[in-house]
Amino acid sequence: MASAANPVSIDRSIVERIVRQVALEYLGRDESGASNDRSSSLGHDSKGKEPELVVQTSSRHMHVCREDMDVLFGPGTELTFDRPLFQEGNFAAKETVTIVGPRSRIISNLRILGPMRKQSQVELAFTDAIMLGFNDLPVRLSGNIKGTPGAVIIGPKGVVELKEGVIRAAIHAHMNPQEAAHFGVKQGDMMKLRVGGPSGVTFNNVHVRIDPTSRLNVHMDTDEANACGLHLTKEVELFK
Ligand SMILES: [Zn+2]
Repeated sequence: MASAANPVSIDRSIVERIVRQVALEYLGRDESGASNDRSSSLGHDSKGKEPELVVQTSSRHMHVCREDMDVLFGPGTELTFDRPLFQEGNFAAKETVTIVGPRSRIISNLRILGPMRKQSQVELAFTDAIMLGFNDLPVRLSGNIKGTPGAVIIGPKGVVELKEGVIRAAIHAHMNPQEAAHFGVKQGDMMKLRVGGPSGVTFNNVHVRIDPTSRLNVHMDTDEANACGLHLTKEVELFK
């Protein structure tokens, strides 16, 4: 499954390290990308107006641009649909890549999420980043990648060196204008997310992202989800 690529222009020692890493992962580590989403729904006895809140974990993943797709998977190739994501039109693709960090450490089976975007971007949790050798990975909203670190990405057909685009995605809430009106928030505002349960945490800087096609949905990364025990509770509340 983890097609360890055709690393044409990559240094031999890196290739050896990659092979070793991939072999280790087959011995029991689960690196299956976006596969461990957990979600919970708001308890607010949905007797009407309160929009239903879905909080999800976003595992490390990559977004690719057309140009990088051509290099990584072959000219003119398209992403293969694997499963839909909660936001309309977004999907997990069957395609995965391997990312090589600053100290030649790697993560394989990095899932690609579709559709393709204008710029390639890799979203990691802090622990992923540290594992790869990025010590100060910036926390950014998706798309805001100026000045962020780059990485080498290996696909089955070729290798791309991203000059920038590796980020830790800031926790954020997608919503449509009606939902934003319900909460009394506007684009760029910050909200709070309270997660209850035995490891409960309140996140104080949840970025509001409004789009007419969105459905109310908070995205956090795997570190945040593990810290608050998101899988242990259905008690979640989003407020100003
Ligand atoms: Zn999101």
